[in-house]
Amino acid sequence: MKLELRVLIVEDSEEDAELLIYELKSGDYHPIYERVDTADGFIAALDKQHWDIVIADYSMPCFSAPAALSLLQENKLDIPFIIVSGTIGEEMAVDAMKAGASDYVMKGNLARLIPAVERELREALQRQKRREAEQALREKEERFRSLIENALDIITVVSPDGNVYYISPSVHRVLGYESEELLEKNLFFYIHPEDVTEVIDNLHQALNKPSSTLFTKFRFQHQDGSWRVLEGVCKKIIYSPELASIVVNCRDITERQQAEEICRELEKQKELNESKFNFVSIMSHEFRNPLNIITISAELLENYSDVASKEQKYLYFQRIRAAARNMTQLLDDILTISKAEVGKLEIKPATLDLAKFCLELVEEMQFSNAGNAVNFVFKGGEVDGQQSQESEAGTITNCCSLAYMDEKLLRHIFINLLSNAIKYSPAGGEVLFELSCQNYEAIIQVKDQGIGIPANDQKRLFEVFHRAGNVGKIPGTGLGLSIVKKFVELHGGKIEVSSEVGVGSTFTVKLPLQSQRLTESRHTYSCGAN
Ligand code: ADP
Repeated sequence: MKLELRVLIVEDSEEDAELLIYELKSGDYHPIYERVDTADGFIAALDKQHWDIVIADYSMPCFSAPAALSLLQENKLDIPFIIVSGTIGEEMAVDAMKAGASDYVMKGNLARLIPAVERELREALQRQKRREAEQALREKEERFRSLIENALDIITVVSPDGNVYYISPSVHRVLGYESEELLEKNLFFYIHPEDVTEVIDNLHQALNKPSSTLFTKFRFQHQDGSWRVLEGVCKKIIYSPELASIVVNCRDITERQQAEEICRELEKQKELNESKFNFVSIMSHEFRNPLNIITISAELLENYSDVASKEQKYLYFQRIRAAARNMTQLLDDILTISKAEVGKLEIKPATLDLAKFCLELVEEMQFSNAGNAVNFVFKGGEVDGQQSQESEAGTITNCCSLAYMDEKLLRHIFINLLSNAIKYSPAGGEVLFELSCQNYEAIIQVKDQGIGIPANDQKRLFEVFHRAGNVGKIPGTGLGLSIVKKFVELHGGKIEVSSEVGVGSTFTVKLPLQSQRLTESRHTYSCGAN
């Protein structure tokens, strides 16, 4: 099948035009043509339809190929234009080609026409495709530009050292600056000094990992001087390898952040109110027990004093006293915790021989507690002039005698841990109390082989009123360890627990030997340094 070809022939001679048509038909074409020989006719024909090719005689009485060519160009039409002439000289042909003609063919050599037409059609098709591709690209670019320029976010293109190559106009709405104002400026100049290092770090990471998108958050100074919080993503621009640049797409989250802070604050307040409520409920529960004992014992004494034996009366008085003691202890504990909570708990350190202090305390406990054996092991230094057997030269030194701590608070810490170890161990169980001093630190461990603490409870053990699920009927309030923790922290120390149910528990307390003095005058204190 022949290819349809719309040919506009600019020719005054009907015969010559037919010769051309004949020639085209002898190729693979089925020409649909019109012949014109004036400018008006040419323009009218151009208006009428699309032409695949124009073949023009060089000179005619009322028109010419150069005139037709310039009309084509004026109308911005890219149609292949072949000049056919019997007379055209080389110079004229060159001029015509320079003016934009595609080719020229001599009337005496029409065999060249078909290859010339074929080539020109091919090239015209390529030009057309290129134009369409360029147009599509322009439209795409336009779409992106419009997206960027109308985006709510600020889109910035920067160099790794913060030089602004581009910043979208939205910067005016968000931060008050005109985008031109920030061009070629350094972005870091406007970022809060505390956030600059992190932003630089993010930009470099984005640069080194082109496939990744990095999140960033920083404060940026608004044109009015206030600080706005911006959150965004950084990504290396990979289509311009010669220019290292990163696109930073950010949005203002100041209001959102403030709202989140308010929510957090409200949530905290709610939790605080709940914990206050829980505290009061548990408190009243804890007080109710001893109060009941007092009430019942007092009623019994009142109603049956004449029939009750001396021993029975003594027992009731004992119960009342014990219940009152419990309540006083409870009140003292709660007062201590409240003071600690508002930072009113004071530490009054003094120099003491820690090893000696511990030894005396253990002896005291052994005296008052016959059921369980409490063994003291001093793992370093000297006690009362006696070298400890387990002392390791070089790593453990006798710094325990130079401790600077609050004796009253220490007493409370150790007695509480030891009492718990005894309380939560079966009668006769052994409790170990170990002390060592090294690296400016006293390490105290209280070890028992008692009921142990379930893993879940271990995390919450130091919370006020928290008691483990396995305590059964063993009495307690759940206040002791929270006070111990506060006292340890007042010394600048730490407390940890490791435990296994049915195997036993170890509480480890680490206290700086010179809690307050150390920071003031470390140079005068050299004990324990490795
Ligand atoms: P309590 O008055 O209940 O003993 P504490 O604050 O001293 O309060 O201890 C909190 C909880 O930690 C206890 O109720 C108990 O569940 C657990 N606990 C503390 N010490 C031990 C221990 N040596 N062995 C097992 N459980 C312990």
